[in-house]
Amino acid sequence: MTTMFAEPEERVALRDAVAKLAGTYGREYVERQAAAGDKMTDMWLEMGRNGFLGVNLPEEYGGGGGGMSDLAAVLEECATAGAPLLMMVVSPAICGSIIVRCGTEEQKRRWVPGLADGTLLMAFGITEADAGSNSHQITTTARRDGDEWTLNGQKTFISGVDEAQSVLIVARTEDEKTGKLRPALFVVPTDAPGFSRSPIEMGWAAPEKQFTLFLDDVRLPHDALIGEQDGDLWQLFAGLNPERIMGAAMSCGIARYALGRAVEYAKERKVWKDQPIGAHQGIAHPLARIKIELEQARLLWQKAAALYDAGDDFGAGEYANMAKYAGGEIACNATDVAVHTHGGNGLTVEYGLANMLVAARLGRIAPVSREMILNFVAMHSLGLPKSY
Ligand SMILES: Cc1cc2nc3c(=O)[nH]c(=O)nc-3n(C[C@H](O)[C@H](O)[C@H](O)COP(=O)(O)OP(=O)(O)OC[C@H]3O[C@@H](n4cnc5c(N)ncnc54)[C@H](O)[C@@H]3O)c2cc1C
Repeated sequence: MTTMFAEPEERVALRDAVAKLAGTYGREYVERQAAAGDKMTDMWLEMGRNGFLGVNLPEEYGGGGGGMSDLAAVLEECATAGAPLLMMVVSPAICGSIIVRCGTEEQKRRWVPGLADGTLLMAFGITEADAGSNSHQITTTARRDGDEWTLNGQKTFISGVDEAQSVLIVARTEDEKTGKLRPALFVVPTDAPGFSRSPIEMGWAAPEKQFTLFLDDVRLPHDALIGEQDGDLWQLFAGLNPERIMGAAMSCGIARYALGRAVEYAKERKVWKDQPIGAHQGIAHPLARIKIELEQARLLWQKAAALYDAGDDFGAGEYANMAKYAGGEIACNATDVAVHTHGGNGLTVEYGLANMLVAARLGRIAPVSREMILNFVAMHSLGLPKSY
């Protein structure tokens, strides 16, 4: 029986199929690839061949014809299996959604089929060192030069550029009349002359790497621009709500994985006669609390995705932010409790949880930090004055 609070049968079947496939890779695969400096390409392409990466994209462009609720469920299941595919947040969710909603017919035909089957990976670059959380401050600029565009600027913390054939760059164009800068989106090939990257060493092991990008007189054809030159912010939000929903779902999957590991250990580990440590409330209650807060967080991203899929961008914005907040919190708290449940083993390389403890914190920082979400909710949901 389907109720308002249960997922439709097709999504449950989708989850089962993804869990099965992702389970054949699992945490060990991710750790092995990260240690060897390799990527998760095998898993990525197999997911693509099975139609899981493009499940949100329209069928006429090679996708599955579903929505963000489906894609986020796919990512949650990968993360629950211990193999979160970070680039799903970027390539099919942000870039795919923006191109489908704002691109021309020709642009959709050129890029969406590859995004859907995973053979084309597109990174996304908005963050700049001197702008940080304040994206209004970005200075990467695009100038029209005859039939071409010239891009100049820098980006930082951009994920997966070494795996991507192109990056969707958020730049600004100058309004011809007012001189005011407006956001505009460009597909930049990673082998374009004038485009270079420098890896940022991060404090945890993961197959996906982050990069600082340099755009030095990068020349692009006129149709590298996605959407309108002065289409303003809604084009960006066509991709940023999916980003937040996907971030939330990935964090919930990480929390499910960590909770699963902790519960398993709590049932087996015995240090007082025959009682497993899970018999002690000091261990059981934190795990039960994580379970409750995890289900709260999952409901939030499901609601955000349902609003987005129903075409309510405004409602989706509020819930996507709240879901991202709740997801980031539960991923951090669940990995912390999982480490603690494991005692000393929680901090060993063998058990792999210490690395996850650091990785989970990404959910509190990106794509929008916990504090910026609290600012948003205070202002937009509660009507309080702007504090910054
Ligand atoms: C692993 C990783 C992957 C990433 N991948 C990408 C990517 O693929 N593409 C991309 O474009 N970006 C990416 N990012 C960037 C990410 O979105 C930014 O790190 C994030 O938006 C925060 O910006 P910042 O790091 O400059 O922090 P800052 O803006 O410098 O903020 C620092 C701290 O100050 C707080 N703060 C700032 N302003 C306020 C305020 N007004 N009120 C209260 N507190 C405030 C913040 O919450 C934060 O805790 C990635 C980051 C990481 C770590």
